[in-house]
Amino acid sequence: MIGITTTIPVEVIYGAGHRAVDLNNLFVGAPDPDVLVEEAERAGFPHNTCAWIKGMYGAVFRHEIPKIVAVTGGDCSNTVALAEVLARRGVEVIPFEYPLDGNEAFLKGQVERLMKAFSAAPGKVMEAKERLDRIREKLCTVDELTYMEGRVTGLENHRFLVASSDFEGDPKGFETRIDRFLEEARRRPSSPPRVRLGFLGVPCIFQGLYEFIESLGARVVFNEVQRQFSMPYGERDLVRQYLRYTYPYRLEVRIADIREQIQRRRLHGLIHYTQTFCHRQIYDMLLRESLSLPVLTLEGDRPGPLDGRTANRIETFVEMLGETGAP
Ligand code: SF4
Repeated sequence: MIGITTTIPVEVIYGAGHRAVDLNNLFVGAPDPDVLVEEAERAGFPHNTCAWIKGMYGAVFRHEIPKIVAVTGGDCSNTVALAEVLARRGVEVIPFEYPLDGNEAFLKGQVERLMKAFSAAPGKVMEAKERLDRIREKLCTVDELTYMEGRVTGLENHRFLVASSDFEGDPKGFETRIDRFLEEARRRPSSPPRVRLGFLGVPCIFQGLYEFIESLGARVVFNEVQRQFSMPYGERDLVRQYLRYTYPYRLEVRIADIREQIQRRRLHGLIHYTQTFCHRQIYDMLLRESLSLPVLTLEGDRPGPLDGRTANRIETFVEMLGETGAP
């Protein structure tokens, strides 16, 4: 079991015969994610560190993960410190870096380094890529059933796409689950939402956000970063696939993708989720300046149910969109 701190070329890990587990998913999917945060704080993590970092730390020890790939470039500067703490505590850490400028030769070098670290043969990696590509195509269908046909909820869309960072550690089992889901979802009646929303930013730490949005007659029909995890590009070359992944590179690349999806998915408004103590909060002003739709910025700190104040703000936003633009 190899822990990953965010999306990396998991084709290498599966090609080498290992299982990838996204530490974020282990954290937020735990029955008691708040306890994992507390455990990290008891171990010495400062209060003013993002809860995802502390939750990942807690998850590594709860699941006794011996080795992780830490993304030290293109994701989160806090991961660098987290990796050093974990290494000091006996966890084997393999660094992986995305180049901010999207330099293909640099990324190719990083992928080769990863292959060497796991003794992954190129042929096996390509075999893994073909298997995962088939699953990625099915995830595109889940996404289309969300925004084109109104048969999949925003929460279901989020859950399937976010799980594609590690394929739940079991690509075969994950594919079977998607197949069953698609069979059932295709038979559902279409129920298009009155207000169509996009969700930008890192996956949210709240529980109940998507369900609350649906209760207002709105739906998230675009999960920006989760969709990026699913790599819906149909790209045959492994390195180029990870160059098309917008999240680790300059914000302009993300903005171009968001603009395209606003049109394609006929969105009425955007929710930008930001995490307390996250440097990515700074991007909020650039996103607002660059996008033509109304943006509601939310901030979450620790795992738990959606709070009343945030719920009120969402309700007002959806009402406003319903009055001003949505049919
Ligand atoms: S939310 Fe921000 S600070 Fe927290 S792990 Fe993600 S990128 Fe890092």
